[in-house]
Amino acid sequence: MGHSNTLTELMLSIATGEVRVVDLTQPLEPKTPVLQLPAEFAQATPFEIGTLSEYDDRGPAWYWNWFKCSEHTGTHFDAPIHWVTGKDHENNATDTIPVENFIGPACVLDAAAEATADPDFLVTIDYIKAWEEKHGRIPARSWVLFRTDWSKRTDPEAYLNMHDDGAHTPGWAPDTIPFLAEERDILGVGVETVGTDAGQAGTFDPAYPCHTLMHGANKYGLASLTNLDQLPPTGAIVIAPPLKIVRGSGSPLRVLALAPAK
Ligand code: MN
Repeated sequence: MGHSNTLTELMLSIATGEVRVVDLTQPLEPKTPVLQLPAEFAQATPFEIGTLSEYDDRGPAWYWNWFKCSEHTGTHFDAPIHWVTGKDHENNATDTIPVENFIGPACVLDAAAEATADPDFLVTIDYIKAWEEKHGRIPARSWVLFRTDWSKRTDPEAYLNMHDDGAHTPGWAPDTIPFLAEERDILGVGVETVGTDAGQAGTFDPAYPCHTLMHGANKYGLASLTNLDQLPPTGAIVIAPPLKIVRGSGSPLRVLALAPAK
């Protein structure tokens, strides 16, 4: 009965507001910004939507739409199979990842001030260790969420922040990724920016370290999150199951957090 009491108490706590349900998801619509890759590569398919019927002669009593987008559009999940370094892992796609791995405690690194001052701000191991001094060691199976307040940039140009030399958006110093993946054994990282790597990460060694090393370690990513400012540094739980696309490299998803009342 212990387990059922836990779940009953959780449901009561949600009903009373003692536990808040925080939506970490951006709206998904045609204007949702997508990643821009160098011109020689295939580009992300933006979100498209069309009406099948809307209580009309195509369907008198019902409204429904079709939609089309890349797997990496809007708030989305990155599976290990997304990257060449993760392609040979077992259970590395959206349909085969163990479902327990979609739920984990949140550790929120609040770098809003740093990212506002420097759009190329990178989280370092020292930064993470300073966070742990205050909030405790990052537990295994955590989602490490990188708060930058980037989601508050509602103008797509400011959000993508493209310049002649590419995007300028915050991310991870390369050596932080093996530290988080191996020494802390996290589930994955979540960011507010359009992708899990820094805008300039194509120039890093290795290039795109979060994708290369996180997926190489069979870990996950969450991109284009919002409302991270609504979460405490520790104590919240992230729920992030992607669509069960067969051999999917990722998918748009609804990301929720359960957080203690403020
Ligand atoms: Mn992605």
